[in-house]
Amino acid sequence: MSALLSLHGFCVSYGPVEALHSVDLEVHEGEIVTVIGPNGAGKTTLLSAAMGLLPSRGDLHFGGERLARPSVEAMVARGVGLVPEKRELFAEMSVEDNLLLGGFARWRRGQRDQRERMREVFAVFPRLQERRAQLAATLSGGERQMLAIGRALMARPRLLMLDEPSLGLAPLIVREVLQTVARLRGMGVAVLLVEQNARAALQIADRAYVLEMGAVALSGGARELAGDPRIIETYLGLGGARAA
Ligand code: ATP
Repeated sequence: MSALLSLHGFCVSYGPVEALHSVDLEVHEGEIVTVIGPNGAGKTTLLSAAMGLLPSRGDLHFGGERLARPSVEAMVARGVGLVPEKRELFAEMSVEDNLLLGGFARWRRGQRDQRERMREVFAVFPRLQERRAQLAATLSGGERQMLAIGRALMARPRLLMLDEPSLGLAPLIVREVLQTVARLRGMGVAVLLVEQNARAALQIADRAYVLEMGAVALSGGARELAGDPRIIETYLGLGGARAA
């Protein structure tokens, strides 16, 4: 299986301080890959740099093509979407209008399939269909997260990068949101999921990377890592549960 996104020797610095040290990471077509790790490990930095929002060094390949200087425009054009931690919805607009804006770049390119895309999004998130006329500002935390993911799906990404979709949500809602992320496999969308909630993330992912202090400390199959004593002790035991 060839990699959709591949990072090799990927480094990111904030001024003189290196925040990511030579990270190697791959996401294959249709795969859910999670990056777990403690606060400040560099998870958000990794997504931002892979999206071209921050300058990086090292190799970034997408769809087999090397991008010497990844920019947001280049990544969006190749089918990469990012749902940032701060969801950034249009609060005073309806669910439906938020979704339509997510499909605007396609519309501008002459691809007039927004209604069909919206039906696909509603199939994944039936709750959004029920609330299609409601203002985004009045949605619950979980519904807002679903809308942020739904809006990104309107652009028909090949790879969706999600930054802590469980942040600030009650445990039951975390499970619901992450179960919907698992359903994206059926849409043929690959997912790079950054999560502090290691337990929930490892349940839905195919593979996982553990990022600690800006470097990959461990990687492997999600099920295998969920059974690794080091992961259990640090991320899934009582300490892990508290962090989650
Ligand atoms: P969290 O789970 O708390 O969001 P994280 O794993 O996403 O953490 P990052 O936000 O990527 O971690 O931060 C990685 C490191 O880079 C931290 O030491 C952080 O202080 C530093 N950092 C992040 N953003 C900046 C910035 N704009 N300027 C300087 N340093 C930064």
